[in-house]
Amino acid sequence: MIIDLHTHSTRSDGLDTPSQLMENAAEAGLEVIALTDHDTVSGWDEARAKAKALGLGFVPGIEVTSVSDIERFGKKIRISVHLLAYLPDPEHNALEIVLGDTVATREARGRAIVEKLAEQIPITWEMVLDHLDKGATIGRPAIADTLVTMGLVHDRSAAFEYYLSTDGPFYVSHSAVSTIDAIGLIRQAGGVPVIAHPLKGVGPNTDPEDLPMDHFQEMIAAGLQGVEVYHRDVPEAARKWLLELAAKHDLVVTGSSDYHGVEGKPNQLGENTTSQEMLERILKLGTGTKASL
Ligand code: AMP
Ligand code: FE
Ligand code: FE
Ligand code: ZN
Repeated sequence: MIIDLHTHSTRSDGLDTPSQLMENAAEAGLEVIALTDHDTVSGWDEARAKAKALGLGFVPGIEVTSVSDIERFGKKIRISVHLLAYLPDPEHNALEIVLGDTVATREARGRAIVEKLAEQIPITWEMVLDHLDKGATIGRPAIADTLVTMGLVHDRSAAFEYYLSTDGPFYVSHSAVSTIDAIGLIRQAGGVPVIAHPLKGVGPNTDPEDLPMDHFQEMIAAGLQGVEVYHRDVPEAARKWLLELAAKHDLVVTGSSDYHGVEGKPNQLGENTTSQEMLERILKLGTGTKASL
């Protein structure tokens, strides 16, 4: 069974509408797909209906933006942590409020990035909005698409190399719920929190002793239930470490594409997958809403 539990639509920074995404998933031979747009559930209904019509299994999810303050090599740093939340109650009040706040601060941050860019190039916020569905979660990819339309770069990845790079001159960081609070909230809403693309960016020669074990232990103590080990951004050096951690704490292990549209990112549907056993564990753990299989 081909199961892909991490994808994006035009409700956030993907390029396929929820319906197109389900069509492409069926065409790619997937049997079960989760829609996990950034900080929103607004694509669920359309995706679920289309998946049903196509005979595709559908798991509702969210990729929740959170931030963690951790210590690395004796220095305090703030990192952005993405949490996949499977099967949370979409009407859980506190979760809705936090997601609403994140979407609002993402807009303010997007505007701040555009203001910095506008000091050097003729970009406006209205131009960025033209690249977004109404009410969709705003992120740097919409700004990247604007830069492509302006002819400044040839694709999203090129935009991320300079204009939108985290260590570039125009970057503005996220502010969002703390990772520990987000995990608690997802659990309260009956969802299954799984850390997305953990340890993305860890170099091939990193000493396992230098990996942030304390932070993982805090997340597990707070209720983290899974790790997305099989994802193109999770370095080989981190996978063994994560699998051992998962075995020790009986965490769910998933694999996914993180598809954002054929042209949105190199990641293509089904390039990494989750086992049926792990999907069944998620379905048992998630009590906030139902999957349609
Ligand atoms: P933001 O949420 O605004 O910080 O933007 C991060 C999003 O940009 C991620 O969710 C990715 O989907 C996307 N992204 C990051 N790097 C790239 C890249 N090199 N090419 C295309 N999309 C990217
Ligand atoms: Fe994204
Ligand atoms: Fe992510
Ligand atoms: Zn994602």
